[in-house]
Amino acid sequence: MNRINLDINSTLGLLPAVAKRLETFSYLNPSSIHQGGQAARIAVENAREAIKGAIHATRDDILFFTSGATESNNTALFLPFWDYLECGIRLKDEKFNVVISAVEHPSILSSADRLKKMGVEVRMVPPRTNGNFIADDFVAHCDDRTKLVSCMYVNNETGQILPIKTITQAVKEKFPRLLVHTDAVQAFGKVHTSFLEFGVDLMSISAHKIGGLSGVGAFIAKAGTHIAPFIVGGPQETRRRAGTENTLGITSFGIAAELASHELVSRNEQMKRNAKRLRDTIASNVKDVQWNFQSLETVGNTLSLTVPGLMSSDLVVGLDLEGIYVSAGSACSSGKVDPSSTLIAMGISFREASETIRISVGFEGSEECFKQAGEKIAKCINRMRG
Ligand code: PLP
Repeated sequence: MNRINLDINSTLGLLPAVAKRLETFSYLNPSSIHQGGQAARIAVENAREAIKGAIHATRDDILFFTSGATESNNTALFLPFWDYLECGIRLKDEKFNVVISAVEHPSILSSADRLKKMGVEVRMVPPRTNGNFIADDFVAHCDDRTKLVSCMYVNNETGQILPIKTITQAVKEKFPRLLVHTDAVQAFGKVHTSFLEFGVDLMSISAHKIGGLSGVGAFIAKAGTHIAPFIVGGPQETRRRAGTENTLGITSFGIAAELASHELVSRNEQMKRNAKRLRDTIASNVKDVQWNFQSLETVGNTLSLTVPGLMSSDLVVGLDLEGIYVSAGSACSSGKVDPSSTLIAMGISFREASETIRISVGFEGSEECFKQAGEKIAKCINRMRG
C-alpha cells in the first residue's frame, strides 16, 4: 500500500539527501583529543555555523544543542530564575511573572505550570475574537516584575503565523530589560525565520521538523546573554548544556538546515500547492465539514478540519488503515480525549475540538498524489459517517 505522511508538523522524516551525507562523518566523542574525536568536533562546529547562518544569527550569538525543542523551551522558561533558585531565594516572595500566548506548545505550557507551582505568576495572552494576536496585548500583560515573554512564531496545530517581530519591538520599547523568547519550531524550514530580524533574545528550533533526526534541537541566545544551564554535568557546549553531544543528530540538523534555507521559497510554494490540491479535492467530495482558521495568516501547509459526527481519534485510525497519516486535534490519554488547548483558546468548542483533525503537508509528492490522497480521505469520511 502507498503511504503518505500528512502529519509533517509532527515529524518531517529524515530527508534522503540528509541521510546520504551522514554516511561520510565521524561519530566519535567530540571531546576526545584524538583525530577521530576532532573530526567529530569539526562536524559539530560546522553544523552550528550552518544553523546560525540559516536563522540569521550573528557569529557572536550563542547556539547550543539540546535534546530537542522540548528541552530548549524548558531551558527558556527557567532561564531567568536559576540565579534566584541557586541563591535560595523563593520565587513566590519576589512576585515575578512570565507572559505567554494562549496557544503555546505543551512544552511551554507545562514549564509555565511548573513555574506557577514555584510561585511565579503565569499570564496568558489570548487571541482577539478574530483569532489574531496583537502586540499591544502582550505589552498590557507585562509589568516591572515580568521576567520573560514567550510567544511562538508559527502554531503547530493551526499553522498561524504570530507577529513575533512586532511583539518583540513593542515589549522591548516599554520593557527593554525583559527577555523575549520565541518557539520557532514550526516556522524554521517553512517560512523566513530570522533571529536577527525578530529581535528576540532566545529562540528554540528542532531538527526533526526540517528533515534531520529526532532527539536534537537548538537553543539560541543573543550574544552576551547570561546562561545558567538547565542540564548540568560535564563542560560540553561551553558549560551551557552538559552531556556528550549527539554528533549524528547534530550533523543531520546542520545539513537539513542548510538545505532548508537554500530551498525555502520553493518548498513553501510547493507546500501551499499541495495543501490547496488536497483541500479542494476533499471539499468537492464531502459535505458538511468545517475548515477552521481560513481567515488567519498561516504558513499554508496546515489544514484544520472539523468533521461533525466523527470523533477525530476514530478518523485518524480509519485513515491510517488507508495508508494516510494525519493527527487528531486532541490528545487521547488513558481512554479519555482531552481537547487541544490551542483549539479551545482559538474559540473552537470542546465538541468541535474532539471532531477536528490536523492535516499537515510537506513539499514532496506530485499534485496527482495529493489529489488521490484527498479522494481517499473524502471516501473514508463518507464511509465512516455511513
Ligand atoms: N514546539 C512546537 C511548536 C512543536 O510543534 C514541537 C513538536 O511538536 C515542539 C516544540 C517540541 O519539539 P521536539 O519534538 O523537538 O521536542
